Formats: sequence, structure tokens, C-alpha cells
Amino acid sequence: MKKIAIFPGSFDPITIGHESIVIRALPLFDLIYVAIGKNADKKNYFSIEQRLKFVKDVFSKYPKIKVITYDGLTVNLCKELNARYILRGLRTSADFEFERSVGQVNKMINKNIETIFMLTVPEHTAVNSSVVRDILQHGGDVSKFIPKSINL
Ligand code: ADP
Repeated sequence: MKKIAIFPGSFDPITIGHESIVIRALPLFDLIYVAIGKNADKKNYFSIEQRLKFVKDVFSKYPKIKVITYDGLTVNLCKELNARYILRGLRTSADFEFERSVGQVNKMINKNIETIFMLTVPEHTAVNSSVVRDILQHGGDVSKFIPKSINL
């Protein structure tokens, strides 16, 4: 049976933190779907089309990575794609508390799904999409925080 994982998130926009987690997880899985949540109620900075293009550009040279968008529950997407694993990154204890609850609820919904956590590398602990958005809003340079293949 193929080991298929989903790496869900908003990716508004994708950062070097996201990129690093997916690339480090590659040896663990046969296929990773980077799944961008459409989140109709959340006000996103970048449109779903822009976020999709950025993420696709970042992973274009990796045949084991597919990039998709989705609506609804991640556990439902897992079922649809035959994925048994949800990949998440952990930066801080706050991430852990949030992820613990989501992961445990997902397990209660579907006991066959395992959430796999990867610790961020220390130099990416402070990197997140909202910092990137703040810098962009004030006309700053975000090149240190986003993958080389995208230009913002
Ligand atoms: P969400 O909207 O679900 O928080 P994000 O797009 O912010 O989605 O993040 C998706 C995943 O990437 C989450 O598991 C998050 O913890 C992880 N992540 C985000 N930034 C980093 C980082 N700097 N290092 C490691 N993991 C990260």
C-alpha cells in the first residue's frame, strides 16, 4: 500500500518553513499532497489562484509532490485521496496545543488516520505567513522568508 500524506494549510503565502517541512518529509512518503484550504470565511491576503501558483512553482521539480486546493474537512479529503497521514509542522508549544486538539479530533472522526508532526528547524521557528503579510503590507522585503522560486 502506498504511503500517501496530506500537508494541509492556508499557505497565505507559502514560506521557507512550509517548504522545508515538505521536503524533509519526502523520504517518509510515496506521495505528498500539499492541500491549500479555500476557507471561504477566512479573509486571505492572496487569492486561491495566487496561492496555488506559488506553491506549484515551489514544488514543480518534485514528482512525489502534488499541489491541490480543497474545501471542507481534511479527514474527508484524506478519504477521497486514499491518504492515511496528515503532515503538520510544529514550531512552539502553542502549535503543539492547537495541533494536539485537531489531531485528536481527527482521530475520533477517522481512527485510520495518523497525524505526523515534524519539528521545525530552529532557524524557521519565527517564520510564518502572517509575518510575511505584515512586511508586505508595509512595503518591506520578504525574500528571506519565502522560497527562492517565488517573487513577491
Ligand atoms: P494553517 O492555516 O492550518 O495554520 P499554515 O499555512 O499556517 O496553515 O501552516 C500549515 C502547516 O505548516 C502547519 O502545520 C504549520 O504548523 C506549518 N508551518 C507553518 N510555518 C512553519 C514553520 N516556520 N516551520 C515549520 N512548520 C511550519
